[in-house]
Amino acid sequence: MSPAFCRRCGSRLVSGVPEGEDRNRDHCAGCGFIEYRNPRVRAGCIVVIEGGAPVFRSTLLMPGERLQAGALRAVGAPLAEDGLLLYCAITDRSRSEVSLVFRATSGLSSAPRLAGDDPQPAWEQALLERFLADLAAGAVRVYSAEAEGGLLHMSPVAPG
Ligand SMILES: [Zn+2]
Repeated sequence: MSPAFCRRCGSRLVSGVPEGEDRNRDHCAGCGFIEYRNPRVRAGCIVVIEGGAPVFRSTLLMPGERLQAGALRAVGAPLAEDGLLLYCAITDRSRSEVSLVFRATSGLSSAPRLAGDDPQPAWEQALLERFLADLAAGAVRVYSAEAEGGLLHMSPVAPG
């Protein structure tokens, strides 16, 4: 939800291309303040559960939070940051989110609970299916991906 009034001077914001910018942005005609709207950053982690299927947990980063710390907070498990490997960088334009998904190199004995009530992305299942296919093939690679609803268009960016 974008605010209707300037945070700096309280005037009503207008839509249009402000001087020095190259696209429409809500801005204040009075004092020149620009209300930037940027994509959110989601940190996620895939964890293998002993004797079960891997699970994915993710959360939006808090201001100033490190990616790995966010990923560990999402799984709420006693894993070490140096046990996280980058798995997939996902652009999700429909949610205006960028997600960095890690995989934990050590497993857990039970599935972590969902942290908070943050709705999980629709592509969660597609991500896990690819991860399972990678495990079965014995080569977990690193991907970049574009999300389209529940689909992920994944391209390997590095060998596993
Ligand atoms: Zn203003």
